Amino acid sequence: MSFPIRHLPVLQNWDCHVCGTCCKEYQVTVTDEERKRIESQGWDRDKDLGGLAPFKRVGPFWARRSQLNHRPDGSCVFLSEQGRCRIHERFGYETKPLPCRLFPFVLVPQGDHWGVGVRYACPSAAANKGRPLSKHDEELLEFAALLAKREGLTPQPDGTSVRPPRLRSGQRVAWPELQRFVKPLLNLLRDRSDPMERRMRKCLAFATVCRQAKNIAQLEGDKLRELLDVLESFAGADVPADPMSVTPPSWVGRILFRQALAIYTRKDHGPNRGPDIRGRVALLHAAWRFTRGSGFIPRMHAWLPETTFEAIEQPTGPLSPQADEILERYYTMKVGSMQFCGAASFGMSFWEGFEHLALTMPILLWVARAMRPLPAEEAVTRALSIVDDHFGFNRVLGTLRQRLSFKILARRGEISRLIAWYSR
Ligand code: SF4
Repeated sequence: MSFPIRHLPVLQNWDCHVCGTCCKEYQVTVTDEERKRIESQGWDRDKDLGGLAPFKRVGPFWARRSQLNHRPDGSCVFLSEQGRCRIHERFGYETKPLPCRLFPFVLVPQGDHWGVGVRYACPSAAANKGRPLSKHDEELLEFAALLAKREGLTPQPDGTSVRPPRLRSGQRVAWPELQRFVKPLLNLLRDRSDPMERRMRKCLAFATVCRQAKNIAQLEGDKLRELLDVLESFAGADVPADPMSVTPPSWVGRILFRQALAIYTRKDHGPNRGPDIRGRVALLHAAWRFTRGSGFIPRMHAWLPETTFEAIEQPTGPLSPQADEILERYYTMKVGSMQFCGAASFGMSFWEGFEHLALTMPILLWVARAMRPLPAEEAVTRALSIVDDHFGFNRVLGTLRQRLSFKILARRGEISRLIAWYSR
């Protein structure tokens, strides 16, 4: 039995425009079955691979895994000079590893169906270029079946594919109840009477109240819906309209924020590899500069221009309505597809994952400011590509240390302060 896919009420378009970014920038992990299938195609003896092995082994000795090998410039060993995949060209699209076919789609199991998201690390997805996602249903259904097989997802006695993520530590509710929490977040994110930054601050206020309501997990059905409706309607009561009137982030908030920035803006391989992190010493130096937070910003990603920490702290005024729309599309997509918790985000609980997602907003605003010479919409789109490259995928973000850091930021109310600070 395969589960259906469900699209979000958000206009997200995508088609591949063959820019080659994914073949040049991503480390593709393959299953043993995929490795054997590709090995049987005889690539070991192929002169087009330039003497390079088709695969490399990565990870600690107790969890070794195979990845497609890369050339010294970071591009996939199978990428041809014409920018095409050699496996696809010679043996057909179906023989490519599943992650290569799936990108940039993200399929998230949500009880009895799959939620569909996209990775904005793909420039076409970030720029909303192509056909609506619903036009890709045929291939998405095929991917869903393959993914279920790959991940060993089989229908449970209650008709769902996986257990729902926890609501918060020690609280678990059934899928229908969990999905009730998504609706008010989407309503708040889509409320265009506020700028996007205040909408997110309202969502965080709503998250705080829900997280602190100890018995909320005991409510079901209409009772839960009614309570959430009330909490949603009061979410803005204590959220200042003017970001200038919000208390600035504390020094603890700023230090932890810059640590998160250093993770989110770092690109270690591919053509956009940061020019200032080539080598271990350079990397340590860059980490020190982010901790200090003054002077020139190390260019951890080739797209980041030369600028200083001080320049980015200068107010730039609110985002344009067009830039706000881009952010609305991004956050609506992430929340609606629940791509911020559970298996899609290092096993985080619903609220932990949501607060981590909210932290990407000041990071995006900071990166967009760094690109200030560009028009606001272009700067925000590029910032999205940089940030979403990591969200849910960079394993560092799922480490205990990093999760503790996000938790401190959330509990101290620093995420809302950071959002307001970088929206001035
Ligand atoms: S990054 Fe996106 S547009 Fe570019 S080749 Fe990959 S899927 Fe296609």
